Amino acid sequence: MNALASKPDETLRVLLVEDVPADAELTLDALRDDGIACQARCVETEADYVEALEAFAPDIVLSDMGLPVFDGYQALRLLRQRDALTPFIFVSGAMGEEVAVQALHQGATDYILKDNTVRLTAAVRRAVNEAREQRARLRAEEELIRAQRFESLALLAGGLSHDLRNLLQPLLLAADTLDDYADDPRLVRLGEVIRNCGHRGLEMVSSMLTFARGAKRTERVRVDALFDALSLLLKGSVPRTVTLRMERGAEDGLSLDGNHTELQQCLLNLALNAIQAMPDGGQLTFSAHACDLSADFFRASEDAVPGRFVCLDVTDTGQGMAPDVLQHLFQPFFTTKDMGTGLGLVSCRRIVEGHGGVLRVRSAPGQGTCFHLYLPLAVGSTQHVTEQAAGGHGEHVLVVDENATQLSLLAGTLTSAGYVVRACNSGTAALQSLAIDGLPQLLVMDAAMSLVTGVRTLAALLAADYAGSVLFLTDPEAPPSLDELPPLKHFSLLDKPVEVGGLLHAVGHALDMARQNPA
Ligand code: ADP
Ligand code: MG
Repeated sequence: MNALASKPDETLRVLLVEDVPADAELTLDALRDDGIACQARCVETEADYVEALEAFAPDIVLSDMGLPVFDGYQALRLLRQRDALTPFIFVSGAMGEEVAVQALHQGATDYILKDNTVRLTAAVRRAVNEAREQRARLRAEEELIRAQRFESLALLAGGLSHDLRNLLQPLLLAADTLDDYADDPRLVRLGEVIRNCGHRGLEMVSSMLTFARGAKRTERVRVDALFDALSLLLKGSVPRTVTLRMERGAEDGLSLDGNHTELQQCLLNLALNAIQAMPDGGQLTFSAHACDLSADFFRASEDAVPGRFVCLDVTDTGQGMAPDVLQHLFQPFFTTKDMGTGLGLVSCRRIVEGHGGVLRVRSAPGQGTCFHLYLPLAVGSTQHVTEQAAGGHGEHVLVVDENATQLSLLAGTLTSAGYVVRACNSGTAALQSLAIDGLPQLLVMDAAMSLVTGVRTLAALLAADYAGSVLFLTDPEAPPSLDELPPLKHFSLLDKPVEVGGLLHAVGHALDMARQNPA
């Protein structure tokens, strides 16, 4: 192989440790004659050498063994203390076999006699290529370890969030129940405090979960929700010198069909790049608007379908990028940072294209950077749904929940809203209630109950020609397996933790559904 790795246009940074200028010239001539483009620095004292390792950041060190005021072995030790991968080759006038073996033993990559220029260039090529490959391999391994850490985090978060939701459920209902004591301002205030804490906890659970969750699923993603989650995640990480702005745009309720977690990850990557590009502070702005993109907007290589798009802009006032950086931006492992992985933008582009969109960038040195994400707008996206709390007019509701606290809160809430409630803490109790009191107009049941209870209660209802609705309270992270349930005509799900507003809305809706389409 003749080219230096896969980047023939790249110059090799060579640090020579040599006290005879003519010898240094000879070595460099040999490399250049062989077609290796290089940029060289020559040092002969320890102080200059250490400074050059730092400032010149060589790709390879070629060192003489014995110098008047410095020692080749010391040079090798100093390099290895900071970096195990940069190749170090001894180039010496005379070298016995014993010395050579010792050199390799101490971590030298190779040893060459000064007049053997053919072997020199071959050894340099091999050493540089091997170091590059090894670096790439190490990075890939680190990336893998990081991905695995995320996977276990997602697993943990899934389990935790289930428990936390169940914990927050009674808290939120209890807070709303305290509103009934309007004549005691202390209780109302207490309710407010409990409700706020509950909401905050819930928000944290769901953003931790959406961030950590690896599962791929397509859902309706609201841009507002993306921005909210992003503010929450970035809150602690944006340095004080950087101001964060979220411009949500004039259109209400912009949304797209896709994967919340992936899109969040993508925006987060862009945000972190932007923050890193503003070491002296600046402004990071997220903005969103809808736009029409026609066929001539797209390049031949892009296979997005023209139409209506959401444009998400991530803009920073940082150092910007030179044309040669822009050119390599989306290459795997391309990075200009010491600790960079060069994988952030690769994954951003994969995510955007996976959503049928395109990623564009505009940047110039000193002018900041703007990434534009164009993602297909979801159909009917700008319709805004307004929640309205409903109330009952004596409809019969059967509530089945094995958790006593939750049961009494649910029953209490529905009773005060004007429903006639029968509360049962088991399937057996529910069956007895059916036998004694007849069919309800609505069944509200916690999906986390033992399956036998749920299925038996439903089966009994169906056997009695129940024509009403069934409202299941479910953990959105662990939806019940509906395959095991008997076929139901009017069936809806409500995510836990349940709040008074959401519960009344869902109950009202379920009753309406059954009224409009009787079985
Ligand atoms: P990494 O962040 O690990 O370097 P990325 O793929 O995220 O990898 O970015 C690749 C390179 O693109 C960065 O090293 C940097 O040079 C450049 N870059 C990305 N975003 C910006 C930005 N907002 N401003 C300036 N340069 C950027
Ligand atoms: Mg990055």
